[in-house]
Amino acid sequence: MFNAQIVDSFKDKETPFYYYDLKLLKNTLTACKEASLPHHFHVHFALKANFNNRVLQVIKDFGFGADCVSGGEVKKALEIGFDAKQVVFAGVGKSDREINDALDKNIFCFNVESIQELEVINELAAKKGKKASVAIRVNPNVDAHTHHYITTGLDENKFGINAWELADVSETLKKCSHLEFLGIHFHVGSQITDMNVFKSLCVKVNEVQSWFEERGMPVKVLNVGGGLGVDYHHPDENNIADFNSYFQIFKDFLEIKPYQEVHFELGRALVAQCSSLITSVLYVKHGIKKNFAIVDAGMTELMRPALYQAYHKIENISRQLDNSEIKNQESKIINYDVVGPICESSDCFGKEVALPETKRGDLIALRTAGAYGEVMASAYNLRPDIRHVYNEL
Ligand SMILES: *Cc1c(COP(=O)(O)O)cnc(C)c1O
Repeated sequence: MFNAQIVDSFKDKETPFYYYDLKLLKNTLTACKEASLPHHFHVHFALKANFNNRVLQVIKDFGFGADCVSGGEVKKALEIGFDAKQVVFAGVGKSDREINDALDKNIFCFNVESIQELEVINELAAKKGKKASVAIRVNPNVDAHTHHYITTGLDENKFGINAWELADVSETLKKCSHLEFLGIHFHVGSQITDMNVFKSLCVKVNEVQSWFEERGMPVKVLNVGGGLGVDYHHPDENNIADFNSYFQIFKDFLEIKPYQEVHFELGRALVAQCSSLITSVLYVKHGIKKNFAIVDAGMTELMRPALYQAYHKIENISRQLDNSEIKNQESKIINYDVVGPICESSDCFGKEVALPETKRGDLIALRTAGAYGEVMASAYNLRPDIRHVYNEL
């Protein structure tokens, strides 16, 4: 819910723009920190969820590490000031150039996704006379019960090394004198709300760490990835993820040895709720069966609905009614398909969305847009760059 003062402050701003509530971001980071610190867990922020400079600055200042999936993200993390010793680099397709750059920067760890990649990192590190720290990304074959486009931890996915290849992995590690085996890495998927998924992950992590330890290879780092989900349907009532329950699961179910560090890579849960995409209604069209609210933001600003039918709560913030008004105006609630201006039928933010009667010029908020929102923006249709408004109060 946006209070009248905030909505008022939007009136002179050109839409569409991403509105960032940095106060909520800080409250979320504080909650995450307070829940993880008692267990001595290390949390890295997954830059791919949001690489807005202001957001990254705040996250860095809270002392989080950085989880990167490209050379560009590694570079950005270091520019923002994340400590190289807190930067991890994952990704199925790291190029030689990306690996070389990361070696030059002495990042904490490469999360390695294939045996061939181990050999390549070893070779490139040898050329520099360096030793690269690696964690093996193991495909846990745990079903995240989430949309198939954001499931990553099944045998059929492209990510990670499958459990039956571990013997080859340990052979390769023994041969590669420019690699230092640091630990194991997992990531099951994203927007996970069923905590049982994380319990299953813990069971798998324990199996894999025993496998290595039984072969005389101490596992110093257990990196369990990210994936904690947020409540897209109740962005006001439930605006901070339940970090306590989440971390408690790993405390209870992981077999953590005294010399081990447990690492997390959270993206969505840290940033999703702190931003909304604010857009203006350009036109209202009344069809035979449908009404359309055509807004000035499109899939070029927020692609999740078009890409994987993701839900974002849609509110007409110019016509927020207090309780007495709602009673009188109930008849004026109308269903709209809220669509963007882009020349694609998938450019639709929501179908049959119940809104107060909506007029040209009204401001619409697409809530919970802070994760995988502006990072996926494109220039398709030659759209202008993303604009921002920040609230720090
Ligand atoms: C995307 C990703 C994350 C973050 O996932 P969230 O669901 O946003 O928490 C963490 N680790 C890796 C390897 C990733 O690819």
